[in-house]
Amino acid sequence: MAKKDRKIVILGAGASIGSKRFPIRSSHDQFRDTMPSAENFFFDLFKVNNPENKYLNSLNFLGLTYEGLHDLIVRSWNINNDGFDPNEWKGVNIEEVMTFFEVGSNMHPKGSNEQKMFNKAQEYLLSFLNPFMPMICEDQHCEYLLQVFWQLDKSDSIISYNWDTIAEFTLQEAARMKRGELAQLRNYAKLLREESINPTEYRSRGILLKLHGSFNWMMCENKECHSFNKIAAPFQPRKYKLLKLRETWNCPTCGGKRLKPLIVPPVSNKMIHKNSFLKNQWMIAREKLIDVTELIFIGYSFPPTDYYTEWLFRQLNFIENRHPLKVTVVNPEFGKRNTYVTRRYNNIFKGAEITGFKTLKDYVKN
Ligand SMILES: [Zn+2]
Repeated sequence: MAKKDRKIVILGAGASIGSKRFPIRSSHDQFRDTMPSAENFFFDLFKVNNPENKYLNSLNFLGLTYEGLHDLIVRSWNINNDGFDPNEWKGVNIEEVMTFFEVGSNMHPKGSNEQKMFNKAQEYLLSFLNPFMPMICEDQHCEYLLQVFWQLDKSDSIISYNWDTIAEFTLQEAARMKRGELAQLRNYAKLLREESINPTEYRSRGILLKLHGSFNWMMCENKECHSFNKIAAPFQPRKYKLLKLRETWNCPTCGGKRLKPLIVPPVSNKMIHKNSFLKNQWMIAREKLIDVTELIFIGYSFPPTDYYTEWLFRQLNFIENRHPLKVTVVNPEFGKRNTYVTRRYNNIFKGAEITGFKTLKDYVKN
């Protein structure tokens, strides 16, 4: 029997940045037409695209809203803060900042002022990112990803490591263009609504999986509520249309406003197997590998701290009579001799045919 192609698109932190936001409808949209990268997160975030005032090309949003958090980063990263120079923020990586706070809060004695400071910093950073990041993504799609998603078959899947919501809004746009529903978005909504999950049932259903959580997976913190600590599916009731950001701020069960998004910060991988919903998503991803013929990695670089991802893709070696695997890597670092990214892909996918593209635009054009 001829084997049908089965693709999985994997979106890493670089996938959202390569993306060009669309549509640009207001001057606020115009202000920010690309997504920030993990590597230069704050530098990118502070950049503004202001056609009316060419001297105002950068604004310190963090300093304006969370002064204490701002000052802690300035101090720890040795940023020269005499007057605001955005270039000083180059290389301040959001994942490294989160990791730094996390380590700090674990190293200092319980109840000490230092521990309190790091705990507060973690809390404030999340309050800064949310709703700031989902606001950037609201109703936006990436034009390049749209073309990738458009060509997916109904059994192909998407795995995202990002908390932002560009992927789902792009899927929604692809569905709109096809004048219908898209398997990946529909099955993602069903999964979020499921009372109990059996990963094997998802083997041939195309789906979107968000392995590190999402800014719109809101969990009610009201202990009296029937939905306490459960994710409210970010979709309109009984439909497959995504909620607007504001609509995710009230608990659909108790109406309360004490909600918190389910997201896994880097190095907090240990949270993954403690949360059964997240763990099930990883097991679904593993199930998908059984039939996969092509893996397309966009903006993912296999960081050494991502033990779970390495575990996941090494599962390929346990599958009997596996189909020949094609690996496509969209990452400017892949293909350069001896770069970390090149070595990691060659090591993890030993024996597979690997093709590289520098940018998402290049990939889509070819
Ligand atoms: Zn509630």
